[in-house]
Amino acid sequence: MKVWDWQDLVLDNGILRESMSDGSRLVLWVPGARDGTFQYWERVGIAARAEVTVAEGLCATAATSIPVRQRLGGLFGKLLGRLREAKGSRDFVLPGGGSAEQCGERAADLMLVWAEDSNAVLEADRIQARWPEGGRHQRLGPNLYLVGGLQTQATSPAAAAAPPVPSPEVSPRKNAEDILAAARQAGDRPNEASALTDLGIILLSEGDPRGSITVLEQALTLTRQLGDRARENDVLGNLGLALLHIQQPSRARELFEHVLAYARSTGDRLAEKLALERLGLATASLGDPARALAFFEQALAMARQVGDRQQEANLLWLQGIQHAELGQREPATAKAQEAIALFAKQGKPQAGWYGAYLQKYRMGLFDTGPEPQSQGVTTGPNAATQAYLGGSLVASVVAGQAQAGRGAAPGKAATGPGLLRMALSATKAMAQFAGSGFQMSPPEVQQKRLQTCAACEHHTGLRCKICGCFTGAKSRILHESCPIGKWPA
Ligand code: SF4
Repeated sequence: MKVWDWQDLVLDNGILRESMSDGSRLVLWVPGARDGTFQYWERVGIAARAEVTVAEGLCATAATSIPVRQRLGGLFGKLLGRLREAKGSRDFVLPGGGSAEQCGERAADLMLVWAEDSNAVLEADRIQARWPEGGRHQRLGPNLYLVGGLQTQATSPAAAAAPPVPSPEVSPRKNAEDILAAARQAGDRPNEASALTDLGIILLSEGDPRGSITVLEQALTLTRQLGDRARENDVLGNLGLALLHIQQPSRARELFEHVLAYARSTGDRLAEKLALERLGLATASLGDPARALAFFEQALAMARQVGDRQQEANLLWLQGIQHAELGQREPATAKAQEAIALFAKQGKPQAGWYGAYLQKYRMGLFDTGPEPQSQGVTTGPNAATQAYLGGSLVASVVAGQAQAGRGAAPGKAATGPGLLRMALSATKAMAQFAGSGFQMSPPEVQQKRLQTCAACEHHTGLRCKICGCFTGAKSRILHESCPIGKWPA
């Protein structure tokens, strides 16, 4: 299967390209009318790894569009407050920042068309002659057209069919192994690389960093052979996390710097935010809390811009740890308090035990933390919770820093910064305690969340690349939410 580099398509002025951490998809924002209150847009997208047909020198692939409106500033807009369209409407983040909301029905009767020769300039006459039944032939770039109104034209099955929803009943590992086997059988190398990446992360969350590195290196080789830079950078970021788990922060930092540069070159702000957080973790592991603070501050500003409140709270807590490392008790307490308030506002159960650890830090006490967890497969209602939290690898990195001498090893008494660090690393353990506040979401809520993730451009098929969680497990936790607001808690 040919891998298309959508970055090569030149766009006309005013048309925006949505940054994708996975370059297998293209999403464009086409400006429409503007009135005193709203700027209207059309968000045009193609499915991940969409089927492209090539005939007579023209390439075509099925596309869908969603009408969206962006509230303009000004007194009138503010007085109107937030308007909501029909139930089921979605919110979006514009490529240049700012939010917009769906304001009409999704259309699936479109195609994106471009010339096979990327240097050719396409004329409207040629497009109209080729698709005379289309009611719309809109130029989006010198070599790119949107053809609409193809009521009788079959859209590609890839775009028309509902994307597959992974079963939350099956473990992420089993799902990843099945997808990997199917991709290999079909010779689908891009999907093989994604499945290897997911498998590597699962091994890491299972406490096997060396096995994880082996699998991620296979994924890296494959992405480089394919020339698939978006996937390559997804692998590199996760490989860096695995290196942090084996106390190799210098090598990890190099990989995160590479990922950050790539995210900035493609304007992918969500990937940039994640890379900054990981750079902060690597720098903290290198024993430089002041620089780590600066990285977390940059990531925090971006998390606020895109409205990722879960990451905002995590980053505040990580900043609290760095201030504590620097012996700055007041800012450490203030940051930690801010994090707790944010967790509480989102109804997250973490607020409770983070508060308890903060209280001990304030009073100069010590703690040994929760009991170590038993090994093996966890079953019962909290199994999903643990599986999801096992996917949140920041806590394990932070615990690793503790073992490296900047806090207490598990089971040993911690004081000072070690106490704040322990709150993070206790999360996985707390997930198993009855009464710790983790509740399961009803099946219909889980299903709706999974369907949203399955259709999302940031989904690998199993994992959300923005928060790093395996969505089958994440969807089952009532208090969880999508980091960019596609599904609320
Ligand atoms: S949680 Fe799901 S819907 Fe939200 S960004 Fe991640 S994959 Fe997309």
